[in-house]
Amino acid sequence: MRTAIISDIHGNLEALQVVLGDIKERNCDRIICLGDILGYGPDPVSCVDLIAEHCDWSLLGNHDYGALYEPTNFNVAAEQAAYWTRAQFEKEEDDQAAGRRWEFLGRLKVRVGFGDFLCVHGSPRRPINEYIFPEDAINSPVKMQQIFERVQTYCLVGHTHVPGVFTDEPDFYPPEDVESVYKLNGSDRLIINPGSVGQPRDLDPRSSYAVLDEDQRHVEFFRLPYDVESVVKKIHAVPELSNWLGDRLLEGR
Ligand code: ZN
Repeated sequence: MRTAIISDIHGNLEALQVVLGDIKERNCDRIICLGDILGYGPDPVSCVDLIAEHCDWSLLGNHDYGALYEPTNFNVAAEQAAYWTRAQFEKEEDDQAAGRRWEFLGRLKVRVGFGDFLCVHGSPRRPINEYIFPEDAINSPVKMQQIFERVQTYCLVGHTHVPGVFTDEPDFYPPEDVESVYKLNGSDRLIINPGSVGQPRDLDPRSSYAVLDEDQRHVEFFRLPYDVESVVKKIHAVPELSNWLGDRLLEGR
């Protein structure tokens, strides 16, 4: 079974289209989404339609929660973007399409398990909001221990927009340290982050996603360039979306 893992699309349609196109070429059996389809980006509605069409299921991210229910602990730009995002769904005149989207968003899951894998947006401790940062592996061993206590074997997370693999040492391996392929040896507990499709934050503006191959027992990470400039232009054209949300895409932060 080959599972494409995508996360943190954040209303970035150009990036999502490129990633879905690439997944098609890689012999995957299914696509799963670890949440944050919404928030920050200029095309939330089209992104929800594509995820609903192509993914087996999607998790509820903090920005999906923010747009759908209420923004909690958001900065001003993120909160304004959340309300603007909600308005894009509310202005749909086709009642059927609108109803279909609200129903899809209302069914986003907080956690999903399959085989040896637990999937959450943030962390197994606080599935919607807690960040597991690469630097936590060095600076926060207690936090990492408490989080790993809740991981039986493997955990898939998004939320930080930084791809890589955490071991329970604790340690963190970015994809470039393992030539983009991390082998699952069955003895280490791991937390795996595929990175972000629509707003990477590891100083590489290219879209990030991963493919889990359960037969080969490995996870492979992929980076893809997309038309960032077009997305930046769209963001700059929407007064409710802070220009910074566009500018950061150019730098990958
Ligand atoms: Zn996110």
